[in-house]
Amino acid sequence: MTVRVALTFDAEHPDRRHRPGGTEKVLEALAASGIRASFFVQGRWAEAYPSLARSIADGGHLVGNHSHYHARMTLLSPAGIAADVRAAERAIRRTTGQDPRPWFRCPFGAGTNDPGVLGALERLGYRETSWNVDGLDWRRAATGRRVAREAVNAALAHGDGAVILLHPWTMATALALPAIIDGVRAGGGEFVRLDALP
Ligand SMILES: [Zn+2]
Repeated sequence: MTVRVALTFDAEHPDRRHRPGGTEKVLEALAASGIRASFFVQGRWAEAYPSLARSIADGGHLVGNHSHYHARMTLLSPAGIAADVRAAERAIRRTTGQDPRPWFRCPFGAGTNDPGVLGALERLGYRETSWNVDGLDWRRAATGRRVAREAVNAALAHGDGAVILLHPWTMATALALPAIIDGVRAGGGEFVRLDALP
């Protein structure tokens, strides 16, 4: 049986201090391994880094919407959600040339079980797209080795349809990625974009 694994990256302004260049390294590692991944792009991030946003699309990766201001959707009214999501959509289309619909990921995962948030997103043409394997690369103590070991173990334990959450701005992610790729493939997994999963 095929074990399909989706690598997903939230391309956003970091929550904390970081060394720049992580996103470039992630894109290089994916290209070197011939992998198409899925990126949830924050609108303001795309406006700040338009050429990097374009590189995501040029690499053949799926482009989704990760909101404009990275606010918790649960704190916004339906009109507020619409304004934020549309602002992100415009920025993403302008920079990447791609329509991010129907792919949306809630910042902090806030709203993934909230009928009001999900309904507002659906009216905008989106469906919320969560993850089932957290790479935990956002932790301060994250190292490449630890992120890789935990992500590979959790993805293979989950089996077909594993969706791994990662953040390209942490240097741990770029350091972990080659080992994640090797480990998942060694365990019989193959990498797909989210639109290849049921
Ligand atoms: Zn985020």
